[in-house]
Amino acid sequence: MLNNASARQWLSPATGQTKFVAMSRKAPSLADFRRLVVKVGSSLLVDSEGGGLHKTWLSSLADDLASLHRNQRDVLVVSSGAIALGRAVLKLTAGPLKLEDSQAAAAVGQIALARTWSEVLGRHDIAAGQVLVTLQDTEERRRYLNARSTIEKLLEWRAVPVINENDTVATNEIRYGDNDRLAARVATMASADLLVLLSDVDGLYDAPPAGNTKAKLVPLVECITPDIEAMAGAAGSELSRGGMQTKIEAAKIATHGGTHMVIASGRVAHPLKAIAEGARCTWFMTPANPITARKKWIAGSLEPKGVLTIDAGAVAALRSGKSLLPAGVIQVDGSFARGDAVVIRGPDGAEVGRGLVAYDADDAVKIKGRPSGDILSILGFGGRTEMVHRDDLVVGRP
Ligand code: GLU
Repeated sequence: MLNNASARQWLSPATGQTKFVAMSRKAPSLADFRRLVVKVGSSLLVDSEGGGLHKTWLSSLADDLASLHRNQRDVLVVSSGAIALGRAVLKLTAGPLKLEDSQAAAAVGQIALARTWSEVLGRHDIAAGQVLVTLQDTEERRRYLNARSTIEKLLEWRAVPVINENDTVATNEIRYGDNDRLAARVATMASADLLVLLSDVDGLYDAPPAGNTKAKLVPLVECITPDIEAMAGAAGSELSRGGMQTKIEAAKIATHGGTHMVIASGRVAHPLKAIAEGARCTWFMTPANPITARKKWIAGSLEPKGVLTIDAGAVAALRSGKSLLPAGVIQVDGSFARGDAVVIRGPDGAEVGRGLVAYDADDAVKIKGRPSGDILSILGFGGRTEMVHRDDLVVGRP
């Protein structure tokens, strides 16, 4: 479907100049995406005057999320609002909060926020799973892998992860502070193919839109040039920390990690349906797809900590796109931990590929050559069926 954005202006990646062109590239449609992260800002959820929740709006968003969920899409929510809600519950006065005040306000508000999401999604028989992350959880590899596998498990169970920064323990030096960039990191971590930033603005404008009738919305950005960055003035309403600058930062994180991003207005009922029907918004396109981006990272950036030698049947299975099961592993060398990169060799010793291993070396030795159904009885805990999952595997020379 040709989105109405596609007929308007767009930005040339080569020059960064805004021009009107006959579009060769269509803005995508929401139906094109398999795994979506939807970020909801505080000012959409919480009333700036009374501090109450915008319940009608929230249930219209939950309807949209449920409809994606019914259509077999994986849905994740990054929800702000803990500090704003806590502030309302505690009846704190308006104005900026000191760090320790916002940490304590978040402790109160996060409970209300999680309950709200659980209720609105529960009405559609969808379980919400609260995930609170810190900057280190997304930046340190081991913690990153752990957070990622929890999110993966929730999605496998068809629950909707509802994610926020763990504001109660995040200090100034080690925090995101804004959920735009957090949502972008979460989206790349979960290999989402789309990040939707619902905001109080409907997209990126080529000039500050307030009081400027000449300011034009940019519907499609294929490359974040310095000109694009210059369009993002400082902004933000009182409740939300994220202005357009953090949204552009988020777009950089998302698009580099293989996730498309769209900024759209959350000031309308059924905001996702509105995007699907062609509402004004700004799309940021990624040149890579998320799996490819991750695989490049696995193949190129990680130092292998061990070697798995596999049998000929497993080599054939890997080459046809399957995961590596313990049954196909003949030999385990090296001392590695779960999540480390390993080299995978065929029976002749030739490298078949590389991947992230799902077991520590000691456990890998115990389950090699054995059916996955025996893992629980051998190890005393039920780990992954796969020794290396196909999403974590790069077959062929890096
Ligand atoms: N994590 C903060 C909260 O829940 C919000 C940060 C933001 O507004 O982006 O209150």
